[in-house]
Amino acid sequence: MSGRFAPRSRRETRAVVLESLLRSGGAFRPLIAKDAQLTEASISRILTELRSEDIIEEIRRPAPYVGGPTALVTLSKNIAVAGIELSNDRLSFGIGDLGGIIDYVERMPASPQLKQSEFERLFGNCLATMTQWTAKRGISIRHAALSIPGYSRANTNPIFTWDMKRLRAFLAEVLEGVPLSITNSVIAQAAFHRYSSTAAYPIEGDHLFLFVGHGVAGVVVNETAPIDTFSPFELGHMVIERNGHACRCGHKGCLEAYTSLKAVSKIIGIAESEVLHQGDGFIEALDLGDDIRTSLRERLFLLGLGLGNALNLHPVSSVVISGWPSLMPVADHDAILEGLDESLLGGFDQDRLKLSFIAPSIGNDPQAALYYAAYCFVRSGGLEAKAEPQAALGENA
Ligand SMILES: [Zn+2]
Repeated sequence: MSGRFAPRSRRETRAVVLESLLRSGGAFRPLIAKDAQLTEASISRILTELRSEDIIEEIRRPAPYVGGPTALVTLSKNIAVAGIELSNDRLSFGIGDLGGIIDYVERMPASPQLKQSEFERLFGNCLATMTQWTAKRGISIRHAALSIPGYSRANTNPIFTWDMKRLRAFLAEVLEGVPLSITNSVIAQAAFHRYSSTAAYPIEGDHLFLFVGHGVAGVVVNETAPIDTFSPFELGHMVIERNGHACRCGHKGCLEAYTSLKAVSKIIGIAESEVLHQGDGFIEALDLGDDIRTSLRERLFLLGLGLGNALNLHPVSSVVISGWPSLMPVADHDAILEGLDESLLGGFDQDRLKLSFIAPSIGNDPQAALYYAAYCFVRSGGLEAKAEPQAALGENA
């Protein structure tokens, strides 16, 4: 891909090749060479090395053109990574392969005001169960990723007001050498969409990815930059009404308090846990009477209003929305445009701003963190398994 950094060290070169495979889901050698900007001879040497370490495999499948290669290169299904998410009022643990196939999931209820000591207890219990499962099968986790709402490079978190130094020390101790990366939930969501469904993703090129789920947050996606360099955009905590609805961050009138899945579940009269259970079909399964539809359109309007304000501060020409708004009838997307039109400088103009939607996979936690873990594994070139816990403890958000 043009614009991508030129590989340097052995680790970087391996990382570029592996990331290309993670993104494509499998490719023939000439394409990998082109994508990684390497010669076919270099690719051949690297693939031999990666195959000997059981990080990649080659499946006999002729390329769809005469004289082409006869083997498709894919990531090995024998590398296990762990995704851990604190989202949707639950702590979810999952183990899967680099292709996102999950073999193990455990979800435990977690309070929205989870104290750090409660988190540590819950995490310890879930980890013990997961460790029993892996020990029984002789599986070793090569990388783990934990996603938390509100997490940033700063040592503060408005959603979970924990001591981040203590969090990192706790995780390093209990994970006993398994490399771990911590990230913001919305960055894990961006990883999920980048690596799980590239064919379905509506946009190529830089854009704002806006996630509207249990939380509401965005991230500016730079197509040629590594995901761990992205910065979260706490759009959900833009105050849009003074003394308005209470938000979990402690303020009142935040956009999230009006447009999150929790806010929507109140309007439709279905518990959020049931919405998570139903997944992306929950709106289709509803009888959207006029009153409910009008209320939901009002919330879409507010989303557009907040989005327009955000874009005045950080202009982009393209926005991709993932969340319940993506599942609404297309005609109702106009309500977002009306909101945008009232706040975006110069008004909404489809020639200047492209708005696209992608299905969110509601209730799939910890799938997003699992993809982030897969990303971190390939980004390390698959060389980190022997790293010391402290050195390996990433802080990617
Ligand atoms: Zn808030």
